[in-house]
Amino acid sequence: MQRPLTMALTKGRILKETLPLLARAGIEPLEDIAKSRKLIFATNHDALQLVVIRGTDVPTYVRHGAAELGVVGKDILLEHGAEGLYEPLDLGIARCRLMTAGPVGWQARGSRVRVATKFANIARRHFAAQGVHADVIKLYGAMELAPMMNLADLIVDIVDTGNTLRANGMAPLAEIASISSRLIVNKAAMRSHYAHIQGLIDSLSAVVGEV
Ligand code: AMP
Repeated sequence: MQRPLTMALTKGRILKETLPLLARAGIEPLEDIAKSRKLIFATNHDALQLVVIRGTDVPTYVRHGAAELGVVGKDILLEHGAEGLYEPLDLGIARCRLMTAGPVGWQARGSRVRVATKFANIARRHFAAQGVHADVIKLYGAMELAPMMNLADLIVDIVDTGNTLRANGMAPLAEIASISSRLIVNKAAMRSHYAHIQGLIDSLSAVVGEV
């Protein structure tokens, strides 16, 4: 028997918003993902299984065809590229903004700036487009700490309510991109499994935006 199609889901905050959307589209895992340490989950559709992984790994699985479909934040696609992938649907979940931010009252001096971020490629492109030379310092978390410790002048990070920035004496400066989670599809799989995958896209697009 052919293996079922695989949809790679981003764990964490995005997963919490993805599961209700899938349920409204009639797709339900056969066990409670939140209560399990498994990585692969059968669904009520014999021909569709779910895997739950880190967001940065989702495009990798889908690009290589190890998963035919994926759900991932636009921030990851902007940072790591979307080569080999179709992005047929904005799921409208896990909305946030990718922003530059700095200490309250921060003023630019000269045309060089030290920027701490997890999004090194996005930050380089953004500052280059402004004609600013950015020395980008790659971090993996707690970006807000970097200006306080004089590791960087500014940060590029995801902002939702802005509470994390405010709690650390920082303010948003410029919006780089508006972010939400996207459905992605392996390009070759879209051709070889057209009817099945298009059916899934149609069912999901029918429930996107419903409350
Ligand atoms: P906030 O304090 O509400 O502005 O949230 C900011 C923090 O939450 C950031 O440091 C992000 O890492 C995280 N965050 C908020 N929204 C999202 C999202 N949609 N996807 C991933 N991380 C998020």
